[in-house]
Amino acid sequence: MSVNHQSSASRSVYQGEAHHKKIQRVAILGSTGSIGVSTLDVIGRHPERFSVVALTANTNVQRLLSQCLTYKPRFAVMSDSTSAQKLIGLLREAKSDTEVLSGADAICEISSHQDTDTVMAAIVGGAGLLPTMAAVKSGKKVLLANKESLVMAGSLFMDAVAKSGAQLLPIDSEHNAIFQCLPHQSLPHQSQHQRDVRKILLTGSGGPLRGLSTKDIREATPKQACAHPNWSMGQKISVDSASLMNKGLEFIEAKWLFDVTPSLIEVVIHPQSIIHSMVEYVDGSVLAQLGNPDMRTPIAYGLAYPDRIDSGVSSLDIIAAARLDFEDPHKENFPSLQLAINAAESGIGAATVLNAANEIAVDAFLQHQVSFGQMTDSLQWVMEHASWQEPADLDAVVALDGYARSVARQRVNSL
Ligand code: NAD
Ligand code: MG
Repeated sequence: MSVNHQSSASRSVYQGEAHHKKIQRVAILGSTGSIGVSTLDVIGRHPERFSVVALTANTNVQRLLSQCLTYKPRFAVMSDSTSAQKLIGLLREAKSDTEVLSGADAICEISSHQDTDTVMAAIVGGAGLLPTMAAVKSGKKVLLANKESLVMAGSLFMDAVAKSGAQLLPIDSEHNAIFQCLPHQSLPHQSQHQRDVRKILLTGSGGPLRGLSTKDIREATPKQACAHPNWSMGQKISVDSASLMNKGLEFIEAKWLFDVTPSLIEVVIHPQSIIHSMVEYVDGSVLAQLGNPDMRTPIAYGLAYPDRIDSGVSSLDIIAAARLDFEDPHKENFPSLQLAINAAESGIGAATVLNAANEIAVDAFLQHQVSFGQMTDSLQWVMEHASWQEPADLDAVVALDGYARSVARQRVNSL
């Protein structure tokens, strides 16, 4: 049981010394987002270890400009050509050498570029699927924050990792914690370890709506839903945290990353977000990874793996934290979690449909088009009314994603 297939994990462990001397050239997909900014913060602390080869953004020209001037990447990619033109003009004025590209294909190109060693996959949503897969297929070291791509492609994603020899490291804090608690350092005895694990305890804070009445949850506003008590994140994942869909997507993510049956994964609500997840072994030992809730810790772990580097995260004040609480998730009030667990038990088609429907519903909720309750109801509706076959390849996943988005869009428009 390990997120790394054997060859890449042993490569890191045994060639660790050699790869210190070489500067790691990192491409950050989604550099203007919450994970992207945290990644640059960690990289900026270690110029002797890392350089930035490429940065990409959707439409935020100003932030990408300032990142380009600070980190001097060889490439900058904007999703559309209008934004790219603006960036070109501003970079020229600043006498920057960064080359500007545009479009989804260009993001895939820099992901698989020969000068890229490591790809931080931090685009939000299904838009991250093809660029992340491009990095995987070209055998890069892939730091996976974009959980939606793995949720959608599942077995196809993991097969591509095995085939290309890519090194996949989880950045989602829970999966990073689980990875740290698994005995991956002592490969190649994986199958033995797989039998030794009794349970994976996937923790979650419960989000900003935890403890509210059913009625108050259904009427929650975007502002309430985005006010996460412990983590500062992008809007989409914040809403997913409020509905527990984030935990659901993470459930599916854990199934693929650690190659476990869903019955081995248990979701535990832990409101303080000090423990980031746990692994229980057959002898009764439970290993946990703890720390302040700051994504720079898992990002630093992924960037420097198997070494440890300063991430800028302050020491955990365990006395101030004082207590750690745990409870079962309230599945009746947060039906999205069960929908995702059902999808994990079903296949990649169900997960792709659920993920697509969720992106449409979250967007409609953020635009005040549907209520929080209608948002989660619409997922249930799509799962019951859409029909699909298990996708056999990536093209089929992309097609199914498009179909599910159109079904979901019709549904939210009818509400
Ligand atoms: P964010 O909204 O803050 O940033 C998203 C980034 O993706 C931005 O740089 C944006 O420009 C880019 N982007 C958005 N749409 C795009 C498109 N269509 N094409 C190309 N680029 C696009 O999101 P975030 O919170 O940084 O999350 C990024 C990913 O990391 C998500 O998949 C999320 O689930 C995952 N993640 C985030 C956190 C966190 O703490 N923020 C924790 C765990 C996992
Ligand atoms: Mg997480």
